[in-house]
Amino acid sequence: MVEVIGFGLTGACLALELQKAGHRVTVVDDGVGGSTLVAAGLVNPVAGRNFQPSPEVNEAWKVAEEFYRDLGEDLFTPLPILRLWRDEKDRAKFDKKRDLLEGWIEKVDEKGVTWRGGGWLNCPLFLERARARFLENGGEFIERSMAVGPIYCTGAAGLLRGEFADVIHRSAKGEILTMRVPGWNESRILNRNGWVIPIGEDCYRVGATYEWDELESGPTDEGRAKVCRLFETFTDREYEVLDHVAGIRPIINRSEPVVLHQAGLGWMINGLGSKGVIYAPRLAEQFVTHQYPHSRGRDAH
Ligand SMILES: Cc1cc2nc3c(=O)[nH]c(=O)nc-3n(C[C@H](O)[C@H](O)[C@H](O)COP(=O)(O)OP(=O)(O)OC[C@H]3O[C@@H](n4cnc5c(N)ncnc54)[C@H](O)[C@@H]3O)c2cc1C
Repeated sequence: MVEVIGFGLTGACLALELQKAGHRVTVVDDGVGGSTLVAAGLVNPVAGRNFQPSPEVNEAWKVAEEFYRDLGEDLFTPLPILRLWRDEKDRAKFDKKRDLLEGWIEKVDEKGVTWRGGGWLNCPLFLERARARFLENGGEFIERSMAVGPIYCTGAAGLLRGEFADVIHRSAKGEILTMRVPGWNESRILNRNGWVIPIGEDCYRVGATYEWDELESGPTDEGRAKVCRLFETFTDREYEVLDHVAGIRPIINRSEPVVLHQAGLGWMINGLGSKGVIYAPRLAEQFVTHQYPHSRGRDAH
């Protein structure tokens, strides 16, 4: 029997991978909900200011895409990403790196570069499906931890308090708005200092802020105003804000996952930062292969 604490993106991927390897798995989740519930689910192979592809992004995404597809074809929506130029310097930076980026370039024009291989994962729906699959496979949710040495997948909450609170981290709060923009018909993901993701029926998710203080302050007027200003850099169309959420990205070392073992306490898998969607499934797969190899045969999905 293996016990996982926390059923966000990390814990869900891990629990399902453990079941695939033939383990009986229990999960303790406090029901508070972490960043997975608010994440935009953006998959951008070349995120960031410096046109630097995420490390091993192709390898990680290959595992992730199959993992999500197995839970439903509708979880991931592939979309081109138009990365708009910031200025001439930005364009020049891209030109210098162009050879390295060729595999992701769909088109380059005066507005920006369009990446292929991007899209967005419906994270709340993922959690719903993962929960259903976990139960179908014989998994059990329990109220309190019973195991010696469980696997903590508790996200930012676990870095702010609790068993692994002494881990140095740089977790960042983020706020996101959902907007209705009648008649805009923008079907690409737009990216420049932030992003706009079309989610259908004239609606878009827009974000996100980065704040390192007052992590637990929830949605704020300042955050909302910042995201509105950001949105106005993409279009001057009228819009209506439908929803406003905030969460905390668990960041330890950039967005590189960290796996720790502490004798008498157990494992911690955390630190997926802003890139959990790309890396969580492969991280779970690798962790299980090394630490909890095949048990009784692959009797689960
Ligand atoms: C605003 C914002 C936008 C983001 N956008 C993206 C994006 O576009 N793409 C992307 O890849 N990533 C994005 N992220 C990051 C993404 O959300 C994280 O990488 C990922 O969801 C982390 O998952 P996790 O399971 O480690 O943590 P969490 O999702 O926080 O899950 C932790 C779980 O553990 C539970 N828990 C915590 N403590 C305990 C305890 N003591 N006992 C029991 N249960 C406990 C919590 O209730 C929760 O269910 C974004 C994050 C934010 C905040």
